[in-house]
Amino acid sequence: MRNAPLRSECVNCPGCNGQVYPNARECPRCGYQPATNRSDELLGSLVMVSSILLGFGLAALVQVASDETRNDSLVQVATGFWTAASVLLAGVLIGAEVLRRADYHRGRLMATVEDDDRLWARCEWLLWAFAVSLVATAAGVAVLGFFFSNVHGVIACALAVLMLGVLAHMARR
Ligand SMILES: [Zn+2]
Repeated sequence: MRNAPLRSECVNCPGCNGQVYPNARECPRCGYQPATNRSDELLGSLVMVSSILLGFGLAALVQVASDETRNDSLVQVATGFWTAASVLLAGVLIGAEVLRRADYHRGRLMATVEDDDRLWARCEWLLWAFAVSLVATAAGVAVLGFFFSNVHGVIACALAVLMLGVLAHMARR
């Protein structure tokens, strides 16, 4: 059926077996969605959250750069963390956008399990880079806490350690 001359552009929907265009994001008849959609949704949220965080991060960096406190060593360490986090976030943003536009040669509805797994594996790399950039941001905040007072710093560090503990606990599941 797939090789029939007049229907060469269409494929069978795995949901209802009707003819659909291979690049459709869902079947217009039965609403079947290819598994690649889970990667698509994840990449979409990554792009959105990363661009928001990057915007705030760059605004904070510009603020610090134009402030006289920038020569304080604690502020410099904090901005070092934030600069690293911003570069990572920019990388995640670009990577997620590139992956989202990845071409499926056989079409989305014909993507094989291997295609899906490969895309998901790449998404996981992006998620890790995203997590590292969040940790770097938190580290910068904790360091900046000491700039205000030792109490601020200790509380920020305790919360950061608590957060890492919760994350590690969740990752083990
Ligand atoms: Zn269908």
